[in-house]
Amino acid sequence: MKPFRYHRPADVADAVAVLAAEPQAAYLAGGTNLVDLMKLGVQRPDVLVDVNRLPLDTVEELPDGGLRIGATVRNSHLAAHPTVRRDYPVLTRALLSAASGQLRNMATTGGNLLQRTRCPYFQDTTKACNKRDPGSGCAALHGVNRDLAVLDWSEQCVATNPSDMAVALAALDAVVEVHDTDGVRDVPLAELYRSPGAHPDRETTLPRGALITAVRLPALPAARRSTYLKARDRASFAFAAGSVAAVLDLDGDVIRDVRLAYGALAHRPWRAYRAEQELRGHPFSPELVARAADAELAEARPLSENGFKLPLTRSITVRVLNGLAGRAQS
Ligand code: SF4
Repeated sequence: MKPFRYHRPADVADAVAVLAAEPQAAYLAGGTNLVDLMKLGVQRPDVLVDVNRLPLDTVEELPDGGLRIGATVRNSHLAAHPTVRRDYPVLTRALLSAASGQLRNMATTGGNLLQRTRCPYFQDTTKACNKRDPGSGCAALHGVNRDLAVLDWSEQCVATNPSDMAVALAALDAVVEVHDTDGVRDVPLAELYRSPGAHPDRETTLPRGALITAVRLPALPAARRSTYLKARDRASFAFAAGSVAAVLDLDGDVIRDVRLAYGALAHRPWRAYRAEQELRGHPFSPELVARAADAELAEARPLSENGFKLPLTRSITVRVLNGLAGRAQS
């Protein structure tokens, strides 16, 4: 591993100032992704700015009924938080479906949002990868691409975002609080991630050196009826082959509101606005849900090995919404 310096900032302003002054600095939180990438030589920071002791580790209930989650709240703590379990079960389920108990005890809210793709070529420094080494090519496009994107990919990159938590946050319309040298501002989660386009090395809309300090969830009573389902190759410690986060609000049999987001399909968590539009205001039926999922996926462009993601995503959408609607599984 390349030698690096270590800095423990006095406060958020100090942390942000170091990142602004050092072009090759990186924030260290749980380290569950960054340290692996440093060992592999994929990330080679000159200095690590350790944000673990900043006062960002609390979950606060907001006066409007929402929730503010500090950026260094650990994934295990957040999953077990009684308010999250009661009011946003989709978030608890997404968190518990990720990684392993040991990793969730270390991984943080902010770090989870910024974890890097698990595209195998990205993690192998002997392979061409535009994300790791811009302009070098994309070994995955015609390579082993079973786990990669079917939506919104570019010739330059077909990677997927690996986070389960971010999929739940996309369905919940979360807002990310960000500090940089200009101060603090809000970034809706829907605007946090970029499509790969010509610059897959730029994964978020955040300016370099910005620090995520919190995530806010809006008050959303309908989210008490919400869940997350992850399809994967083994029952634990595996990334998603497909996943869905769902909130369902029924008025009798009619869908008053629905929020859907998909994981493992694209370079960012995929909010299924089109499917939601097909569903809202109509009587619930599994057939309608299947048609809505198909409408959402109509513009998908599967790669050579991942066409299975389309029927898989349709199937888990029907299963999840059937469950939230209290219907027996077909
Ligand atoms: Fe790199 Fe993206 Fe291609 Fe994977 S899909 S090799 S991350 S450019």
